[in-house]
Amino acid sequence: MKDRNVLMIPGPIEFTPEVLRAMGMATTSHVAPEFVEVFGRALERLREVFLCPGGQPFVIAGSGTLAMDLAAANLVEPGDGALVVNTGYFSDRFAAILERYGAEVAHVRAPAVGDVPPLEEVEAALKARPVKLMTVTHVDTSTAVATDVRALAALGRAHGALVVVDGVCSVAGEELRQEEWGVDVALTASQKAIGVPPGLALVVAGPRAMDAFRGRRTHVGNYYADWTNWLPIMEAYAARKPGYFGTPPVNLIWALDVSLGQIVAEGMDARFARHRKLSAALKAGVEALGMRQVPVRADVAAATLTAPYYPDGVGASMLGYVEEAGVIVAGGLHPEIKFRYFRIGHMGAVAASDILATLGAIEYGLARTGHAFEPGAGLAAAQTALLA
Ligand code: PMP
Repeated sequence: MKDRNVLMIPGPIEFTPEVLRAMGMATTSHVAPEFVEVFGRALERLREVFLCPGGQPFVIAGSGTLAMDLAAANLVEPGDGALVVNTGYFSDRFAAILERYGAEVAHVRAPAVGDVPPLEEVEAALKARPVKLMTVTHVDTSTAVATDVRALAALGRAHGALVVVDGVCSVAGEELRQEEWGVDVALTASQKAIGVPPGLALVVAGPRAMDAFRGRRTHVGNYYADWTNWLPIMEAYAARKPGYFGTPPVNLIWALDVSLGQIVAEGMDARFARHRKLSAALKAGVEALGMRQVPVRADVAAATLTAPYYPDGVGASMLGYVEEAGVIVAGGLHPEIKFRYFRIGHMGAVAASDILATLGAIEYGLARTGHAFEPGAGLAAAQTALLA
């Protein structure tokens, strides 16, 4: 018997054997020439994966929340106006972080859970008062809602705001073209579509963001997050020289280089298309099983994550049965609907076989709760979408 379940939560995800081998190799010195080369190459590859050839990458030990903290700490000064395009749990978190650094935060909220804030309301908020920085959660992991980053970034820029995108649940899975779309800062964490175990905060800052940082009137109010400390280190490794501010997580950076190499080899367009296709197949299966989804329309649904409501009469006990069938999915997170839905992550090295295994396990779980449905209906719909 295989002693492992398929991990289909929105991070951490399943990692490739090559990435896991890098995690288990003998740790080198952080100034060893072979590590310096790997770190430098990972920084270059990060620009390729973020589609931001002119960006400044930062790779720092921490989780996605540190990546958010880095953006806020380095760009916000007390009294700055900030606008949060709010799609749920992680948008609220960004607001709390911005406020910690003294920003005056306004929100534009979605009209309902599962929807996105209307562009006209975002524009009105940008016109209402000066906004130095606007944050957008690309894929809100609590709702599986994806925002239109391209349109939002264009609006933000048109009104002089720095556009910061929380891409923790999107970068390297959901289509995001940082430079072309005019995103000033994009950030993520290693454990999602980037495909590396948890522990790295990843940020790419464009030239306007770096200018805003350099033009600060006040010191950054966070010692560890201060780019003043990290920029020379990133520049050193990019130039294939060692640097030291805090000891880098050596094995994670080896693993990052391996995973970024795999991502670049697949190609960004092919990778976005694979995520879209697998997501569409899973969503078709969920729908065929009679489950509604949290995103209110297909055009606001993410390609990295699916959030189905339980059918009537079925509750969270279903997830235990799904696990019995070998697949781990996640419970609800958004406080307003927490116990009415669950979440399935499908990003990174995910394959068609994972989608079919997941739907099979969901069907098993539904059957074990006593729910009446046609077994095989979800699998058939997914298979049809995969073969299309
Ligand atoms: N933003 C989004 C959209 C996320 O999904 C998450 C994590 N689920 C975070 C931020 C925070 O990341 P971390 O848990 O790695 O701190």
